[in-house]
Amino acid sequence: MSKIKFATVWLAGCSGCHMSFLDLDEWLIDLAQSVDVVFSPVGSDIKDYPEEVDVCLVEGGVANEENLELALKLRQHTKVVISFGDCAVTANVPAMRNMQGGADGVLKRAYLELADTGKQLPHEPGIVPELLDRVIPLHEVIPVDIFMPGCPPPAERIKATIAPLLRGEHPNMQGREMIKFG
Ligand code: SF4
Repeated sequence: MSKIKFATVWLAGCSGCHMSFLDLDEWLIDLAQSVDVVFSPVGSDIKDYPEEVDVCLVEGGVANEENLELALKLRQHTKVVISFGDCAVTANVPAMRNMQGGADGVLKRAYLELADTGKQLPHEPGIVPELLDRVIPLHEVIPVDIFMPGCPPPAERIKATIAPLLRGEHPNMQGREMIKFG
């Protein structure tokens, strides 16, 4: 049986969702029997999102041009996209900056008003991605197949979401254990 092509992506998040993924401990060994990890910030250094991916966990909101570009690309090349954690599902913590009223306000506040020394706005086209005006949840930029809330989602929820997909089944995302925020 061919292995499932499995990816994880890290957009604007704290990486806590990926840390929770690693909390799957020995089940990760079982998972490794069934999947090929074709793209992930954890344990791989693949730079380009592959052409064909079966399942992708996407952590984080969409906060800058780089996030947006990767979100659009992964949607194009992935069968099942999972909005992984509260930042992907609602924009959550990264969206707190939306209260500052747009990217300019945030940058000025962080790099000019609050800087003790070296006041300077970051600007390096092609190296520092431009901020979007607002941080937005993943489903506002691409269609999402499965929503897995949680900050972070507990390891058992991650397992209960992924395991059915490995059998070609859709996970049952219902009840407190599967869709509780926070
Ligand atoms: Fe971090 Fe929580 Fe956001 Fe996951 S949902 S990236 S744990 S802040």
